[in-house]
Amino acid sequence: MIIYDLCCDGAHQFEGWFDNIDDFEQQRTDGLLTCPLCGNAEVRRLPTASHVKTTGHELVSRPSTNSLNPSESSVEFVRELHKYVETNYDNVGVEFSEEARRIHRGHAEERNIYGSATPEQVSALREEGIHTLSLPAKPPAKDKLN
Ligand SMILES: [Zn+2]
Repeated sequence: MIIYDLCCDGAHQFEGWFDNIDDFEQQRTDGLLTCPLCGNAEVRRLPTASHVKTTGHELVSRPSTNSLNPSESSVEFVRELHKYVETNYDNVGVEFSEEARRIHRGHAEERNIYGSATPEQVSALREEGIHTLSLPAKPPAKDKLN
């Protein structure tokens, strides 16, 4: 799993999770990569790709609205990603931005959390120096054919 620092035409910086560089290029070519703040599809990878864990904990936000329409090839990856996060992260739901702030200020136990956040909330957190990762929306469950 690779996390890239991305930037849209509007100079918004955000992060994307990919299984490899080909996945990133494929999603970009297919127009599946859009800026979570403005929806711009002109997304490029920043040359200094790095995942900065400033305080030893990771925060994951899930956009409350989904404009992504992942191709079948990436659906499996996204499903795995959600499984990983759900297993290893503490679900704080809509309290995400508040809890992220509490952790950032040392008012709550430092741990990995995930939840939902609006682009405005993510933007506000970023301005406060709180690093979050956006998780692609969860694909629908597989059809169970018995
Ligand atoms: Zn943007």
